Amino acid sequence: MYLFFPISFTLFLFASAASIRDVDVAIVGGGLSGLAAAKDVAKAGKTFAILEARDRVGGRVLNAHIFGGEVEELGAEFVGPTQDRVLSLADELGLTTYSTYTTGKSILYRNGTVNPYDADLATGGLPPMGSEAQAELASLLTELDSLASELDVHAPWNHANAPVWDSMTLKSFVESRITLQDSLVLFETAIRSILSTETEEPSLLYMLSYIAAAGNQTNVGTISRLVGSKGAAQDSRINGGTQLLATRLAERLGEANVFLNSPVRGIKLNGARYTVKSDRVQVSAKHVVIAMSPPMAGRISYDPLLPAGRDQLTQRMPMGSIGKAIAIYPKPWWRKLGFNGQVQSDTGIIRATYDNTPANESFGAIMGFIEADEMRALDKAANVSQIRIQRWDLEEFSRGGPVAYCPPGVLTKYGLFLRKPAAKIHFAGTEASPYWTGYMDGAIRSGERVAAEIIAGF
Ligand SMILES: Cc1cc2nc3c(=O)[nH]c(=O)nc-3n(C[C@H](O)[C@H](O)[C@H](O)COP(=O)(O)OP(=O)(O)OC[C@H]3O[C@@H](n4cnc5c(N)ncnc54)[C@H](O)[C@@H]3O)c2cc1C
Repeated sequence: MYLFFPISFTLFLFASAASIRDVDVAIVGGGLSGLAAAKDVAKAGKTFAILEARDRVGGRVLNAHIFGGEVEELGAEFVGPTQDRVLSLADELGLTTYSTYTTGKSILYRNGTVNPYDADLATGGLPPMGSEAQAELASLLTELDSLASELDVHAPWNHANAPVWDSMTLKSFVESRITLQDSLVLFETAIRSILSTETEEPSLLYMLSYIAAAGNQTNVGTISRLVGSKGAAQDSRINGGTQLLATRLAERLGEANVFLNSPVRGIKLNGARYTVKSDRVQVSAKHVVIAMSPPMAGRISYDPLLPAGRDQLTQRMPMGSIGKAIAIYPKPWWRKLGFNGQVQSDTGIIRATYDNTPANESFGAIMGFIEADEMRALDKAANVSQIRIQRWDLEEFSRGGPVAYCPPGVLTKYGLFLRKPAAKIHFAGTEASPYWTGYMDGAIRSGERVAAEIIAGF
């Protein structure tokens, strides 16, 4: 049994519907990308207004209070090495990190059998299965890393093989390499935990570019950095929860500059300035930042219309389907039994779990991802009321998560429009980052990039 109290943010003043604001930069979206853009715009001495649809900042990061005190994250949670920008922002905001609990054995639940094992993909180990299946999986992962390393993260569509790789799904490529069910099941579980899609949804090129992005300017991206814990994407957590990144930054930016409950409906160019219309406030600005995923950006109306390539992109990038379920226990009892709380399963609604116990161990928590077809199947389940589930696919201003991905044929034809400004409308959002696409780090990088773009063109 557990109780969640979603955190409500009443810190901010709401502007009245009639109010009109003149600023240098209107930022649409108060997620990490929009907030990061605002930070650098403000540093450059420019005025700005953030228009956020929800009654809170943070977007895909969301804290929930448990037992009125400790925090569990219902959205983004982990940070790790090479995610330099999110780690730097945390430090700047006085936030500290602690290691994800990885001591003890993980479990592979396969064919109805519990198989404990020591390995973590990030350190080169593979879950227990036949040696042939291990060899097949290892060879596939090595090949994906190797192909990904050939890509220019800034323009993966320029690779000589991009048209071929973008014409096939990840699944068709994997089927040409994998013959054993054991290796296939494990690979598919890994992809669900990365993208929250089935392997037939993203193109091979998109998957390769996502792997290539899992690094920084000096460390080439690898698939093990995406799926691993220690030294990888799930390495650490933020004391107090990741939403503090957003709320603390918003507080520093000043409540008068952040308009909550202000979904933007339309952006119209009037002479040299844009009028940005939301339900509560109207802003006139020289530059506009769209700081959200392409599919959410496509729900805003633009006058004049955006270039056709950008519009097509927003029509072709769906969100993954993700939910999070968190079970709370008086103590993290599995630790005493020598387990780290990480399970991969070939069956069930939840196929990947993590130990989500807070640093002070005031209670035990296991978090399970509900992903791709399992998330969609939950629509048909008779009774899920026993467990608290955060469904991102039913969030009006997210429509899924963790990231919007590219099916075949999108990246080569429209990838360019992820970041290309349309006159003085600039595009941020984690999907637009060449590094750590899909992660908080990517969101922050994208915000910093648009701010630099705007300041350079002022
Ligand atoms: C369940 C889950 C788990 C995740 N786990 C991790 C993790 O462990 N580590 C990690 O680094 N990342 C993780 N992520 C991904 C991470 O949350 C995102 O990459 C990041 O938060 C995206 O930030 P953003 O600013 O690009 O977009 P968003 O956070 O989506 O922000 C966009 C903002 O725009 C607002 N908006 C939308 N439409 C409008 C409109 N018309 N007008 C005004 N505002 C609008 C939205 O309300 C939102 O606040 C996870 C995501 C989910 C959903």
